[in-house]
Amino acid sequence: MQLFLTIYFFLLGTILGSFYNVVGLRLPKGGLFKESRSFCPTCKRTLKAYELIPILSFVIQKGRCRTCKANISFLYPAMELLSGVMFAYSFLVFGFTSQLILALLLLSMFHIIVVTDLVYMIIPDRLLLLFFVLFLIYRFLDPLDPWWSSLAGGAIGLFLTAAVIIASRGGMGGGDMKLFGMIGFVLGWELFLLTFFLSTLIGAVISGLLLLLKVWKRKEPIPFGPFIVIASCISFFSGKMIIGWYVHTFF
Ligand SMILES: [Zn+2]
Repeated sequence: MQLFLTIYFFLLGTILGSFYNVVGLRLPKGGLFKESRSFCPTCKRTLKAYELIPILSFVIQKGRCRTCKANISFLYPAMELLSGVMFAYSFLVFGFTSQLILALLLLSMFHIIVVTDLVYMIIPDRLLLLFFVLFLIYRFLDPLDPWWSSLAGGAIGLFLTAAVIIASRGGMGGGDMKLFGMIGFVLGWELFLLTFFLSTLIGAVISGLLLLLKVWKRKEPIPFGPFIVIASCISFFSGKMIIGWYVHTFF
């Protein structure tokens, strides 16, 4: 039964992930439901049902459109796979608890943010607002201990990021600030501080590597959203353990 459910959550993650790819691609352009059918962005041909199977279609078509042979970005199947793996992992970690709902909500929002930030360098306000309402309801029903940790986390998130934006004049943007505020509200102030520290560390290491390997040029800004997403996932799934280890080792 456990195996069956794990596979179920994996498939759910890849199918929803495929939907989140579309949302991430269309939301910043405004027309989320303007065209209901998916189409090839190069030749504009409407895609058939068998071309929309998460991951598999990409592998079978060797990453190309069947008619115009245009390359399909590796980002989309990679995100579908990642969502599948993270959904299954969340089920294994939390089982059928309220934490599982929170995990799936966070992963859904993170997936869309990674797409919009990598493709357009934007974290859409409408997306943040929608999830903020959901998280508000969630934290009302299942508050942190102590409950005010949400408020402290949200406030620290907003002010700390605002300070960094003013000090660095660039680096992070308004979307990052709102996202950090929300992460603070959802995870509480302690896990927020860990997330903030990890995201700057991961951001520095990865952008350093990208510059070193000349994947990224110094002039182009690097989207910061994906680093916040990676750091938030580490904090959410193993933050308590990391903080416990840190306190145990250094105090
Ligand atoms: Zn095409």
